[in-house]
Amino acid sequence: MSTPSLNEIVSLAKRRGFVYPSSSIYGGLANAYDYGPLGSQLMKNIRDAWWHHFIESRADMVGLDSQVIQHPNTWIASGHVASFNDPLVEDTVNHKRYRADHLVEGWLKEQKEPPTVDVDSLSLAELADFIQIHHVLSPDRNPVTPPKPFSLLFKTHIGTIEGDQDEVYLRGETAQGIFLNFKNILDSTRVKLPFGIGQIGKSFRNEITTGQFVFRTFEFEQAEIEYFFNPKTTAWQPLFKRWQTEMWQFITDTLGVEAKHLRWRQHSDAERSFYSRETYDLDYQFSFGFKELWGIAYRTDYDLQQQMKFSGQDLSYIDPYTQEKFMPHVIEPALGLNRVFLMLLTDAYHVDPINQRHYLRLKPDLAPYHLAVFPLLKNKPALVKKAQTIFHRLQSHYRVTWDERGNIGKRYLYQDEIGTPFALTIDFETLDDEAVTVRNRNTTTQKRVGLNKLERYLQQNLNKTQKNLSID
Ligand code: ATP
Repeated sequence: MSTPSLNEIVSLAKRRGFVYPSSSIYGGLANAYDYGPLGSQLMKNIRDAWWHHFIESRADMVGLDSQVIQHPNTWIASGHVASFNDPLVEDTVNHKRYRADHLVEGWLKEQKEPPTVDVDSLSLAELADFIQIHHVLSPDRNPVTPPKPFSLLFKTHIGTIEGDQDEVYLRGETAQGIFLNFKNILDSTRVKLPFGIGQIGKSFRNEITTGQFVFRTFEFEQAEIEYFFNPKTTAWQPLFKRWQTEMWQFITDTLGVEAKHLRWRQHSDAERSFYSRETYDLDYQFSFGFKELWGIAYRTDYDLQQQMKFSGQDLSYIDPYTQEKFMPHVIEPALGLNRVFLMLLTDAYHVDPINQRHYLRLKPDLAPYHLAVFPLLKNKPALVKKAQTIFHRLQSHYRVTWDERGNIGKRYLYQDEIGTPFALTIDFETLDDEAVTVRNRNTTTQKRVGLNKLERYLQQNLNKTQKNLSID
């Protein structure tokens, strides 16, 4: 099964109400998308799966929901104000702006025999040299300015008077909110090392590069974990490996993504942030190549030390057994949920080779709806009434959608496209035999199931579909 093109995914997303270009009645806004009825449900299911897996199912993790706007010193302490930059170049003719590293990557792809170069490791000066030596041009084939640092942080103001006093930032990552609340959590809960704090929330980055749909946007959702440990009693390497295994398993087992579409990429010494001792990206093979989905870094005690220094508050940890006082270290798995969303649409997209039928092979727990209920004909009150009773009965256990428009074949195709695992048709026979036709998204097979056994049948087969087993 080949990877669908980005155009196929964008078109499905818009056609079926997963994602719309934002503010489209005003002509749109670059890099911004709204999630429609199906997209918002899919995002919620992704969020729920992550929260359940990493917070609710573990004794060593707690959750948090910190603010988008925090004290501005947060971002000075974290280093974001000084160095959260991308290298910006400008087309000297039409003044369009680009990320210098992305232009260089594009140039390398065009070469028959490209020089070996690790673009992610190049400094601003090295990027400038490269662009000059190789005459790297803009996509419109014009010369570009030398790269200069461009801050990714969005600035805004609070209060009624504008001025430096009330200048604040929209958070560029959710992680710093965790460090700011580290002491609150120590003081108010029963946690002890090693333990982790996880949170899901919106982050904002003034990205230069546009395109690639929801992969890179100004506003996006992160699911980040800071896992705190005592570096004297816990060796970081095995803990780091364990987290890598957890991340991989979440993507393959819980989300059902094919392992062959994933890879680990280790950051080189030059690419890695100065405070990080080890960084890996978990990359997914999107239609535009292997790209970062999830990062994991061993950040030592850098962030806690910085926030301690700037706030003047003691953020150290006292071991309840030995009374030893020290700064915990952290391992940080940082995931972007909108990239998970795009990965799932891409990975689940299937075209039946025999009849060209399109279907989304999402796991039932992730699919916007578990079930669809159809009365065979919409103008037969007895059928509609019976179907409504079944619909309401199932709604208390499942996400169910209703459709009475068009012929049954078209309704199946619509549900296939949005990934609904089972569709139930209520026909004239149902009124006599108290049974419905249950049709399977993956195989298109149909089975007559008695209403008295319906919930059991659905539960068993949704579970099997969830685990990718063949069904009854
Ligand atoms: P990239 O190199 O692609 O810009 P990054 O290394 O800056 O990403 P991190 O700072 O590690 O990203 O953020 C953690 C995660 O947040 C990323 O792995 C990604 O999934 C997600 N993410 C980062 N920036 C964006 C964005 N602009 N839009 C959507 N998701 C993003």
